[in-house]
Amino acid sequence: MLVIQDLHKQFGNLRAIDGLSLSVNTGEILVLMGPSGCGKSTTIRTINRLIEPDQGTILFHDTNILSMEPDELQKLRKRIGFVFQHFNLISRLTALENVMFGLVMSGMDRETAQNKANDALAKVGMEGHLDHKPAQLSGGQQQRVGIARALAYEPELMMWDEPTASLDPILVREVLVVMEELARYRASTMIVVTHELSFALRVADRIVLMDKGKIVEEGKPSQVFVNPISDIGQKYKELIE
Ligand code: ADP
Ligand code: MG
Repeated sequence: MLVIQDLHKQFGNLRAIDGLSLSVNTGEILVLMGPSGCGKSTTIRTINRLIEPDQGTILFHDTNILSMEPDELQKLRKRIGFVFQHFNLISRLTALENVMFGLVMSGMDRETAQNKANDALAKVGMEGHLDHKPAQLSGGQQQRVGIARALAYEPELMMWDEPTASLDPILVREVLVVMEELARYRASTMIVVTHELSFALRVADRIVLMDKGKIVEEGKPSQVFVNPISDIGQKYKELIE
């Protein structure tokens, strides 16, 4: 589905991504891990060009995303869902309206948008909170609305950038449970950036470890966390033991 080749991105003198290549298969659940600042967010943000890389190729179904015109890019972004650490819901809108908003803005009629938003909110267990505004929801519930907002587009690929990192520890679990369920049903192909080791162990088809803008190791969790070949892999192994 996705083939990234020789990707580079520099911020000033800092090489945030330094010759990264990675392929993702349709249906795969890939967990991307590595120390803070190693380039995980930059990498996934280049995939829908929230960040423009300096060099490289990103093929999505054999089309180079980096040479897409604005109208093609706009269509592409509907096929790729993004769940962020900070969910940025619109405070004056209800949960249902937050999920409908983007759909309606992109030209969908209200009735279809409402049906899709209802379905997406049910998938994340938020059907009982449709009329609640973000301030009336816990952080975990707000993030589940954030997930529903991405799901409503029925994206082929979902990218998750530390979706539990800003949550209170007691709220992390409810979001991980939803993520795990979506992964199990193969709701979409997924690239998940997370520090949640137990989630990675249970759910990932493949773990990809990054360090200093490069991929240093990849493989099944049973391989990467048991017989790591990289220093970073060794550190994760020690955390699990
Ligand atoms: P990660 O998500 O793995 O924590 P990032 O991809 O966010 O890492 O960042 C990689 C490196 O690039 C870090 O050193 C970070 O400080 C730097 N960086 C990221 N975005 C910017 C930016 N817009 N301007 C300058 N430096 C940035
Ligand atoms: Mg990050």
